[in-house]
Amino acid sequence: MDPAVGEKEEGSQPQGAVVIDGKALAQGLRHKIAQTVGEWIRQGRRPPALSVVQVGEIPASTTYVSHKVRACRECGIRSEHIRLPATVSQQELIAAVDQLNRDPEVDGIIVQLPLPDHIDPHAVSWAIDPEKDVDCLHPENFGLLAKGTPRFVSCTPRGILHALTEYRVPIEGAHVVVIGRSLIVGRPLALLMLSRSATVTICHSRTRDLPTLTRQADILVSAVGRPGLIGPEMVRPGAAVVDVGITQIEVEEGGRKRKRLVGDVKFEEVRSVAGWITPVPGGVGPLTVAMLLLNTLDAYRMREGLAKK
Ligand code: NAP
Repeated sequence: MDPAVGEKEEGSQPQGAVVIDGKALAQGLRHKIAQTVGEWIRQGRRPPALSVVQVGEIPASTTYVSHKVRACRECGIRSEHIRLPATVSQQELIAAVDQLNRDPEVDGIIVQLPLPDHIDPHAVSWAIDPEKDVDCLHPENFGLLAKGTPRFVSCTPRGILHALTEYRVPIEGAHVVVIGRSLIVGRPLALLMLSRSATVTICHSRTRDLPTLTRQADILVSAVGRPGLIGPEMVRPGAAVVDVGITQIEVEEGGRKRKRLVGDVKFEEVRSVAGWITPVPGGVGPLTVAMLLLNTLDAYRMREGLAKK
């Protein structure tokens, strides 16, 4: 990364935020991943493999899973999209996961969330072999992350850390305010930032006086899924603003209705106050997918004896 692109000059007045180009960062990572996999294949090794299990037909889940599967294939990672009906029982789902656990040629397994109400996601996370748990949801992996000695780092938090590091946003000693406490984003991100010696505040739907807390943030991360939640009045000038939220809305353009993805942050308004900002789309989303590929490579290395377990 060219420092002139990502780094803020010390003492300079904020002139509008540096826009963190997650898409470009992810492309760079995918290029390196493809090279690594290509090298393994040339050495006569098998390709890494990821299996994604989807239960039911939620359209957003189908889109996310197809992005993940396509990204794998573009990098030479073998991937399969296993579709189970919404009526599948918890026992049947766990049996399908167990079959993947026992398949020696599968390195990574994810079960796409959300699951239908009759299935307990915690029971499913216990069922995945911890060494193939590339979403870092198994309690053993979550515990290792909490201890600061992770086996896997959850994909979205790993992507956010990568973006902040590449753009040289100072983390050590910074006050990081995370809005959202999900197992997939908010909580693991807070743990990761703590391991990087940030001071962390976690907010959620019961938090009182959210703006007072967000205005104290050097790094503000919103992972809620509420368009317009974060306006410029909630941001300290010069802060880094990371927008994780993804919501599909309908907009009217030229008399036609079109679907658009938006984040939690009022992008244009916050951009004029913040020091750095991630857009939606093109910010955290592509990095999350790239980190899933990296986690799959990490699982492969551990399973093939190319890295320490
Ligand atoms: P989630 O399980 O949907 O939970 C949302 C969190 O936001 C909860 O902790 C909730 O608090 C909190 N919340 C809700 N309303 C709030 C409010 N008014 N003020 C403060 N906090 C509030 O979270 P998720 O799965 O992490 O997803 C969050 C968003 O990120 C969604 O839009 C999702 O699509 C998106 N996402 C994006 C990526 C990516 O790669 N960009 C990856 C994953 C998720 P409670 O806990 O009190 O209910």
